[in-house]
Amino acid sequence: MRISQPVSSYVGTLKLSEIFYSLQGEGIDAGKPAVFIRTALCNLSCIWCDTKYTWDWSHYDYDREVSEMTIPAIQEQISEFDTKHCVITGGEPLIQQTKLIPLLSNLKKEDYFIEVETNGTILPSETLERFVDRWNVSPKLQNSSISKQYREVQSCMEYYAKNSKAFMKFVICNQSDIAEVKTLIGKYTLKSQRIILMPEGNSAEEIMEKSKWLAEICLSNGYRLSVRLHTLVWSGTRAK
Ligand code: SF4
Repeated sequence: MRISQPVSSYVGTLKLSEIFYSLQGEGIDAGKPAVFIRTALCNLSCIWCDTKYTWDWSHYDYDREVSEMTIPAIQEQISEFDTKHCVITGGEPLIQQTKLIPLLSNLKKEDYFIEVETNGTILPSETLERFVDRWNVSPKLQNSSISKQYREVQSCMEYYAKNSKAFMKFVICNQSDIAEVKTLIGKYTLKSQRIILMPEGNSAEEIMEKSKWLAEICLSNGYRLSVRLHTLVWSGTRAK
C-alpha cells in the first residue's frame, strides 16, 4: 500500500553513514557540486558494492559506521555547505523513507534540488515522491550476484518506467551485460534517452578501458554514458 500522510506526522532520527560535500560523480548531474547525505543500511548486497561500510557488518563495525541523527542536526550540517543541490544516497535510502520525509520537506522549503539514488526495489510513498526532483534509479543486473527475485521488483520497475523524474543507471562489467539491459528496456518500455550506462571499476584504468567500448554502445543506442567522476579524480578515497 502506498502512504500519503501529513508531513507533520513523521518524527524520529535517521541512521546515517556520512554527510559530505563533493562533486556529483554519476548520472546526468555529474560534475555538479552537491551535499551528500549517505544513509546507512541496504536491502541488497551487491558483490562489487563500493559502499559496503553502509551495510556489511561482517567486515565493518556498525557502531563506528552508523550515526543516528535528528532532522535538525542533519539540516544544520547541510547548511554549512554552499550549495542548494542535495543528493540522498546510500546504502538504500528508501529503507528509511518515512523518516526521510520531514528532512526532504524542510529542504524543499529552502529551495534545495533533491536527487535520490535508489536500487529501485522499494516503492516510494506518494508523500516522499512530492519532495523528490530526480530519481537516480540503479537496477541491478546479474553481475551484482543478487538473485533476480530480489534485484528486479516488477512493481517498482513499472513505477519508475512511467516516472518522468527517473533516470535508469546500469552498472556494466562486461559487454554481455548489454543484452540484459536491453531485455529490461523492452520488458518495461524504458526510454533510451533515460538510460545511463556506467562502467564498473575501482581504478581510473578500469573505468577508461570500459568507457571506450561503452561509448560506442551509447552512441548506437541513444543511451547516456556516465563515467565514475569521483573514481577518476579521487581514486581509492572514500568520500570527498
Ligand atoms: S544496492 Fe547499492 S548500496 Fe546496496 S549493495 Fe548494491 S551497490 Fe551497494
